[in-house]
Amino acid sequence: MYFIANWKMFGDLKTLNSLDKVIKFLKANKKNKFKLIYCPPNTLIRPLSKRLKNTNIEVGAQNSHENENSGPYTGHVNSKMLKNVGAKYVILGHSENRQEGENDKLINLKIKSAIKAGLKIIFCVGETLKEKRNRKTNQVLARQINNGLKLINNKSKIIIAYEPVWSIGTGVIPKSEDLKKSISFIKSKFRKKSPKVLYGGSVNANNIIELKNISMIDGFLIGGASQDSKKFIDIIKKTYN
Ligand code: PEP
Repeated sequence: MYFIANWKMFGDLKTLNSLDKVIKFLKANKKNKFKLIYCPPNTLIRPLSKRLKNTNIEVGAQNSHENENSGPYTGHVNSKMLKNVGAKYVILGHSENRQEGENDKLINLKIKSAIKAGLKIIFCVGETLKEKRNRKTNQVLARQINNGLKLINNKSKIIIAYEPVWSIGTGVIPKSEDLKKSISFIKSKFRKKSPKVLYGGSVNANNIIELKNISMIDGFLIGGASQDSKKFIDIIKKTYN
């Protein structure tokens, strides 16, 4: 099981102290086979990587530029630069970035560039509320997966995060039946071995009790609740109790 913390535009050097609790929890629960990944803002990748050096918690970034080389892209960083400061993963295709204009084609270029740089990709897909109401969920997921992963034959570096846009930050999660259908639809898109498929959107220590029973889910991408170490640990604990 994966538990990925998405610290979106959150955290400063002081916040890193809160990770001591998580490190302690992890040391005390070595038998459990879960994988923890923190995706902080770029400003914290280096200090967080240093802090987590002797643990098996890994670090990822939240986005990267598609260009492999340096260039005139003020404010951006590419995957090579992220890898250089300690990132092993990068979240790509997050709906908050899609809403700012990233399309499937651009996300495909970013994924290719990240693979080339040696990063693993947390590739986000998911429908909007309007698309859900118009019963377009599968059509949207198929489009995002086919276009986003176009010409990427080796999917071993890909983890998919199913994040319905209407569920992110809203406190609302999909009905179990709908979630099962979407996760199995995503897995059915892969003829050979499917990548791991995570769920993301308003996961918390209460709804995890329902979510953990969906056997096809390989883990969770957690935004808001991951910013508080106690809440994050509670989610993990309740997944296994
Ligand atoms: C996210 O932004 O990826 C996310 C899952 O956010 P939240 O858990 O806050 O809904």
